[in-house]
Amino acid sequence: LSDRLTDTFKNLRTKGKLTPSDVDGTVREIRRALLDADVALDVVKDFTGKVRERALSDEVNKALNPAQQVVQIVNEELVGILGGQQRRLQFAKKPPTVIMLAGLQGAGKTTLAGKLGKWLAKDGHTPLLVAADLQRPNAVNQLQIVGEQAGVPVYAPEPGNGVGNPVKVAKDALKFAETKQYDTVVIDTAGRLGVDAELMKQAADIRKATEPDEVLFVIDAMIGQDAVATAKAFQDGVDFTGVVLSKLDGDARGGAALSVASITGRPIIFASTGEGLDDFEPFHPDRMASRILDLGDILTLIEQAQQAFDEEEARKVAEKFATDSFTLDDFLKQMQQLRNMGSIKKMMGMLPGAGQMKQQLDNFDEREIVRTEAIIQSMTTAERTTPKLLNGSRRLRIAKGSGTTVTEVNQLVNRFEQAAKMMKTVAKGGVPNVPGMGPI
Ligand code: GDP
Ligand code: MG
Repeated sequence: LSDRLTDTFKNLRTKGKLTPSDVDGTVREIRRALLDADVALDVVKDFTGKVRERALSDEVNKALNPAQQVVQIVNEELVGILGGQQRRLQFAKKPPTVIMLAGLQGAGKTTLAGKLGKWLAKDGHTPLLVAADLQRPNAVNQLQIVGEQAGVPVYAPEPGNGVGNPVKVAKDALKFAETKQYDTVVIDTAGRLGVDAELMKQAADIRKATEPDEVLFVIDAMIGQDAVATAKAFQDGVDFTGVVLSKLDGDARGGAALSVASITGRPIIFASTGEGLDDFEPFHPDRMASRILDLGDILTLIEQAQQAFDEEEARKVAEKFATDSFTLDDFLKQMQQLRNMGSIKKMMGMLPGAGQMKQQLDNFDEREIVRTEAIIQSMTTAERTTPKLLNGSRRLRIAKGSGTTVTEVNQLVNRFEQAAKMMKTVAKGGVPNVPGMGPI
């Protein structure tokens, strides 16, 4: 990820040094991206403060591509807070492994029990789901249905025995699992609509009685700014060993992930991405960092860009610039390749830190490419190769042929000459800017 990003920024910004105002500009954009992603304000402040400090340190000022370094720092810090490496589920040395689920009502615990059961079974385990949510009348039944869909057995209280006592049900289930040789036990628990002392105590009691290897706090990624308070309450009331982020299939950009990880210091282990039992995967900190910053769009952009400009082409163009043999034909070709990349403005809009370029982008008119094409196509081969031939009468002929004006033809020729001159300078130092786009 970072390498490819570095390349993009090398192409798009060739600034020598990063000034504090550059850093502030980028940090501002990051801050906005984080707030948009619903990361808690305190976490955002903390985070951007750290990024700014690192970005202004020598570490970065001496770097070759400073703007990119800022994004890299952001990415590194994000991935770090999100747990760095992927954290795997921990299994007991001596089975059964006990996994308890906790979280607010509607967070997705019961669904997760089914997903985990199915996933564990596929992995060669013999899971048992336990219905320790006795709060809602339908909860046991819901888990039984989920278990059936997952093809995983469910332990539920016998009518009349243990009803209303989830701690007893959970304890009985563990004994049952031991005698029947289930190697993992997933305990579904009750949730309330809001944080509630009684609920916390019940969950804490279940935890004490079953000594789980993992207590997974399930949180709805759409919860937004409430994530921090909810996570804190569960950490204080029950405590947990890991987090499961659910409903990541929705609009949520995943800010809750950063808030919860940052505030509780607990790793996020799984991501739930839909109502289906297969909509579930181990959590990848790097992917989430991308999602939060919307770097995914950048990857798409880079892929598009790479299709349009393969490296060989870029090298050839650089060479032509350097040796002064860049022609209007090459210019046209570059223009056409740019168009292949789709809407240029949209493309630029996808880049974080593109703020400085915004003004130039606003001045950039895609119709201009169409006009440019028309003009160049109205030229003879000789004219394209040797623009010096373009005297007044030729320019008039070209304007008529392309449905433009002499002024527009003049502008194009000037722009081409300027670009060629500038690119020549750049080319001496390496691969040029996005060719054909002129002085960005
Ligand atoms: P619980 O109260 O914590 O047990 O939550 P449930 O498992 O009953 O889930 C509440 C609702 O959210 C149900 O309608 C689920 O189908 C839905 N749900 C659970 N996980 C996801 C998810 O990852 N994505 C989406 N879109 N819906 C989910
Ligand atoms: Mg439930």
